[in-house]
Amino acid sequence: MSDAILVTGGAGFIGSHACKALHHAGLRPVSFDNLSTGHAHAVRYGPLVQGDVRDAAAVEAALRAHDARAVIHFAASAYVGESMADPARYYDNNVGGMIGLVQGCRAAGVKRIVFSSSCATYGVPESLPIRETTPQRPINPYGRTKLIGEEILRDLSVEGMRHVALRYFNAAGADPEGELGEHHDPETHLLPLALKAASGQGRPLAIFGTDYPTPDGTCIRDYIHVADLARAHVLALARLREGGESLALNLGTGRGHSVREIVAAIEAVTGRAVPVRLEPRRPGDPPELVADPGRAVAELGFRTECSDIGTIVRHAAPWFGLEAGHVQAA
Ligand code: UDP
Repeated sequence: MSDAILVTGGAGFIGSHACKALHHAGLRPVSFDNLSTGHAHAVRYGPLVQGDVRDAAAVEAALRAHDARAVIHFAASAYVGESMADPARYYDNNVGGMIGLVQGCRAAGVKRIVFSSSCATYGVPESLPIRETTPQRPINPYGRTKLIGEEILRDLSVEGMRHVALRYFNAAGADPEGELGEHHDPETHLLPLALKAASGQGRPLAIFGTDYPTPDGTCIRDYIHVADLARAHVLALARLREGGESLALNLGTGRGHSVREIVAAIEAVTGRAVPVRLEPRRPGDPPELVADPGRAVAELGFRTECSDIGTIVRHAAPWFGLEAGHVQAA
C-alpha cells in the first residue's frame, strides 16, 4: 500500500491543495485539522481527523491509526497583522503546535517532517533577492514563531529526525481544475481582497502604504501559485524518503510585484476595475520580499509552472464570481 502522510492543516488553503498533489502522486494524505480556520469541505482527498496539533497524544494516535510515515505540518495561525495584535496566541498555536507535533511524532516513531515556514522569517532582508543564507531576523511575532519552528526541527536532528523547511513567499491562486480555492475568514490577503473588491462583493481595496522605497511606493511581494507550492511538498517528501539530509528552501518565483501591479493584473484579466482607497502602512510589513529560488531548483528540481501573475489571477478569479477571459496580464 502507498505511504500515508499526516497533513496537519489539511483543511486549509495550502494544505488542501497539497493533499490533492499527494493523492495524484500516489500517496495517501490524512488531514489533521482542528477546523478553527480550515473547512471540512476542502478535505476532498483522504480522511479528516479532527484534532489539535498542540495535543501530542492526538497527533500520535492519528499517526498510528493511519500508519503514517511522514508529516507535512501546515497547521498554524498565519496573519502578520493579527500576530502583532495578539502575539501570545501565535506563540501558543504555532510554537505550542510544533512542540505537540514533534512529541507526537517521537512517540509514534515518525522521523520525517516537511514544515511550512515563511519568508516572514527574514524580516527586512539586507539584500535582494533573498537566499536561504540571508540572515533570518523576523520583524513580527508570526515570523518569529516560524523561525522558532525551524530551530526546533534543527535541534531535533540529534535524534535522527529529518525535515525540509519550506519558506513560502506569497501563496496565491487556486486549483487549476477549479476544485479548491482560498476561503479565509476573516480574509486579510491582498489577492482575495482585491478580487472581492473587483466583484463588487467587498469594500474598496485598502492599499497599505504608498510611501515605501519601491518604484511605485507600494510593497513588493513574490507571489507563487498554490498548485506549484503543493507540488514542492511532494518533492520534499520524496527527498526525505530517499534519505536526504535536512534543509531549508525558499519557495518563490524570483519575480516581485507591487500592490499596484497586482491591482493592474486583476483589472487586465477580469476586465473589472478594482476600487481602491489609500491607507497608511500596515505594521509589520517589510517593503520588498523576493526569493532567489535557485536552491529549490538545485535540491528538488522544483520549478514553478503556473506562477505568472496572469495565471494566478485567472485561476483565483472564478472563486469570487469573476470571469477571467480577458487579456492575460504580463
Ligand atoms: N496589502 C494591501 N491591502 C490589503 C492586504 C494586503 O495593500 O488589504 C498588501 C500588504 O501590505 C503586503 C501585500 O499586500 O504588502 C501582501 O499582503 P498579504 O497580506 O496578502 O500577504 P503577506 O505579505 O502579509 O504575507
